Amino acid sequence: MEAYHELLDEIQLDIERLREESGGVPCPSNCFACCRNTATMAISEVEARDLKVGLEALPIEILRHIRRKAEQSIRKLKAHGYDVENIMPDAGMEAIAVIKGTPEGECPMLIGGVCAIYEHRPVICRVWGYPIHSGNELACCHKTFIGKRRRFRPLNYDRYWKVCQNLSTELGATRKTPNCYLVSQLLSA
Ligand code: SF4
Ligand code: SF4
Repeated sequence: MEAYHELLDEIQLDIERLREESGGVPCPSNCFACCRNTATMAISEVEARDLKVGLEALPIEILRHIRRKAEQSIRKLKAHGYDVENIMPDAGMEAIAVIKGTPEGECPMLIGGVCAIYEHRPVICRVWGYPIHSGNELACCHKTFIGKRRRFRPLNYDRYWKVCQNLSTELGATRKTPNCYLVSQLLSA
């Protein structure tokens, strides 16, 4: 986990470099649209362990709310033929399409437009909004860096994700878990 925290420090430095070069935080303070369709996003073991620390710090009422949201997403996914096993091959992209734009598509940790585990959020949540190098392509939220995405050196998301996978393997876990299933499992335990 120490190595994971070193990675988070590195990501923060990269983000600060991009903020300095581009003129600040790119997201409007009241925007949380990207948290609306992340119920199936893939979370690696090392990210899951950090997320668990964030969950453990929350009051029981909030945890119940989060668990309820996760279970609602799981129920709706099940009605469309998805389960924890068959979602992951494409990192949850096909499955999210069936709940996109509905309350069940939301991240379970999104409460009143705020991330309940902000300091412990997964890596993609930290970098989305900035230009990122992902799968040999340049990706970016469609609301940010409009018309100037290629002007800046992107965040190396491919590397961050690789480090997460390697650290997870060292922890003995190679599987990624879709967000809502992971949260449900953590809170059931
Ligand atoms: S973990 Fe937090 S930042 Fe990430 S999608 Fe969920 S609510 Fe949004
Ligand atoms: S990344 Fe995009 S959708 Fe997410 S908060 Fe920033 S502007 Fe909004």
